[in-house]
Amino acid sequence: MTNQEVWIYAEKHVGIIQPVTYQLITKAKEISKDKKVVIVLFEATDEQLEMDIKEYGPDEIIVVKDDRLRDATDSEIANLMTALAERRQPNSILFGATVVGRSIAPRLQAKLNTGLTSDCLNLSFDDDLLIQTKPSYGDNIMCEIICPNQRPQMASVRPNTFAAQKVPDASVVVTEVSDLSFKEAPRVKILEETPLLSKSDSIANADRVVALGRGASDDQVIDLAEELTRKLGAKMGVTRPLTDHVKFSGEDQIGQSGNTIAPKLLINLGVHGAVQYTTGIEQSDLIISINKDADAPIFKYSDFSYIGDAGDFLKSFLKVIQ
Ligand SMILES: Cc1cc2nc3c(=O)[nH]c(=O)nc-3n(C[C@H](O)[C@H](O)[C@H](O)COP(=O)(O)OP(=O)(O)OC[C@H]3O[C@@H](n4cnc5c(N)ncnc54)[C@H](O)[C@@H]3O)c2cc1C
Repeated sequence: MTNQEVWIYAEKHVGIIQPVTYQLITKAKEISKDKKVVIVLFEATDEQLEMDIKEYGPDEIIVVKDDRLRDATDSEIANLMTALAERRQPNSILFGATVVGRSIAPRLQAKLNTGLTSDCLNLSFDDDLLIQTKPSYGDNIMCEIICPNQRPQMASVRPNTFAAQKVPDASVVVTEVSDLSFKEAPRVKILEETPLLSKSDSIANADRVVALGRGASDDQVIDLAEELTRKLGAKMGVTRPLTDHVKFSGEDQIGQSGNTIAPKLLINLGVHGAVQYTTGIEQSDLIISINKDADAPIFKYSDFSYIGDAGDFLKSFLKVIQ
């Protein structure tokens, strides 16, 4: 018998809960209604990460404590998750579509003999059925995927697809589970963990982003945009056409098949505003866009618009923010 619980795997990296976990809690609370939102946390005995998770107001946190969990492998975590899921039979399990989530979720899916939809851009419930929305057919259409016959229903969601919101004074039940047997997966051993500092990681988590589109691809404009990026302490991202430029790569791309970003400030320079791009910027707070075409769709997504040349804008703007 399936429990009315939506589980979220609490992803940690170098002892810090990753933002995607909080984003998933907020979304799960929004869509779950009659279901409990339950976080599954694996940590070492001297860690207290449940205190951080509590601030986002899930109904329950299942904590498994064991010193071997400080640097457990993805296979070992998947084994423990399987034992827990077989015991409590949740309705659904959600993961961040991160390097770690993409490694643990399919292992768990195979062990539980169920379905998994990766890289979802939206989730909702139709009664007990999890509706998992993701781009399909070469990213050209959005598909709603369901798993009607097997449980749990499993999905992964890219970081920054949803916004996280703290819940003041939430009452959260913490359940410590201490009777799981730790099954070692000896083929891989983690010797050391170091923070990931890839470029894409830094755009996805940046507070300020300067984004370049094809209308800002001249070398002189790129130089000015780099100066602005440095002055603002921002990170630089690009639309897909710019990934062919020698200075950029797919790691810098914003959008449906690139990074989903959620900065406090986003400046779009010479970006048209194709839907495949705007999907990746919806969580941005303040959007300023510069485009010489007054009808460019990017302006519909913008708080402030400048109709004109990107290079001219940059020269004037750089003068006033000396
Ligand atoms: C399956 C699929 C997935 C895709 N995924 C992504 C994705 O993840 N990210 C992404 O970005 N794209 C993606 N695309 C491509 C997307 O459809 C657009 O083609 C792309 O976003 C357009 O980039 P752009 O706005 O830089 O270029 P353009 O569409 O060429 O627009 C350039 C803009 O610059 C303006 N401009 C020109 N000169 C100047 C100037 N001097 N000053 C100011 N403005 C100027 C123009 O008016 C125009 O609006 C995808 C496409 C497909 C089919």
